[in-house]
Amino acid sequence: MRELRGNSEDSYKMLYSYLYMLEQVNSGTTTRVELDEAGKFKYIFIALGACIEGFKVMRKVILVDATVLKNGYGGVLVFAKDQDHNRHHYPLAFGELDGENYASWTWFFEMLKTVIPDSSEIVFMSDRNQSLITAVANVYPQSHNGHCIWHLAQNVRNHACNTIKAVVAWRFMEFARYYTVHEFEAAYASFKVRYPSAFKYVEENTKRETWARVYFPDFYWFNEHRKDAVSGSIDTKLVLPVEIHLHNLWGKAEKTPVRELNSYDLEYEVTDTDDGKVYLVNLIVNTCSCKVYDYKKYPCLHGLAAYLYFLEVPAAHGRRREVNIDIIS
Ligand SMILES: [Zn+2]
Repeated sequence: MRELRGNSEDSYKMLYSYLYMLEQVNSGTTTRVELDEAGKFKYIFIALGACIEGFKVMRKVILVDATVLKNGYGGVLVFAKDQDHNRHHYPLAFGELDGENYASWTWFFEMLKTVIPDSSEIVFMSDRNQSLITAVANVYPQSHNGHCIWHLAQNVRNHACNTIKAVVAWRFMEFARYYTVHEFEAAYASFKVRYPSAFKYVEENTKRETWARVYFPDFYWFNEHRKDAVSGSIDTKLVLPVEIHLHNLWGKAEKTPVRELNSYDLEYEVTDTDDGKVYLVNLIVNTCSCKVYDYKKYPCLHGLAAYLYFLEVPAAHGRRREVNIDIIS
């Protein structure tokens, strides 16, 4: 293997020529090597130009994590990635650091900031490594911070006693994703009773707004993006997964019973035939009492049913004739 690939020492010697070629053949690529006081390798950062270009039109949620390198030199491999519209990994940048500490994370985020500027639209998702979180807060003061609920659920399960730990993790991840405060609070209260030690761990070590969807600060990006959409054609702005989502809901939405409550404010009562519950939809402010429309910013089944009803019913006196339904993500 060594004959085939050479040894690590030789590879490090070739680093500069490799990075040079990387920048030559990938326009917009940023690379950087940091040396220590003795002139030896300390950190490296690589962000490919095409990935950074693509990020401009993507959801501004950046996941950051690190994994330990098991070679003779040690250190950690770190990366920043996004999730594309098909929920696939989308790499933004990666690097090698001497370990997870404040100095190394700060260096990495300062490098990242040269290709992705600080903005209140950005949300960093990470595990709860304190040096990482502090470095993000200092280098990207305008950004928001959230925790990966899968990582957090693994910690929560380890603090549960006398129960099936996998169930605790599953339950925690379930209500972290709830859409209404009422549903969340009820589930969280029952979690407290059933799994007191896990609940105590969560309360003492986390802030709800970093992991519970209902308490997370509004995603400003959605609102900005929706403003852009008004000036263009919805057909060209609609991302494929949302188009598929609406397409799948369409047939069912057409058969869902709708009653108009207010013809000027476009309020509708929609009966969901699956759960038998009645939901209140407002097509002016694009909300639904199920809250899915409010958070996801594109219609839930009820919102779509109300919109189809709006299109079907002839405009009566005093009724609005136009509505800007936001079906952009
Ligand atoms: Zn709804």
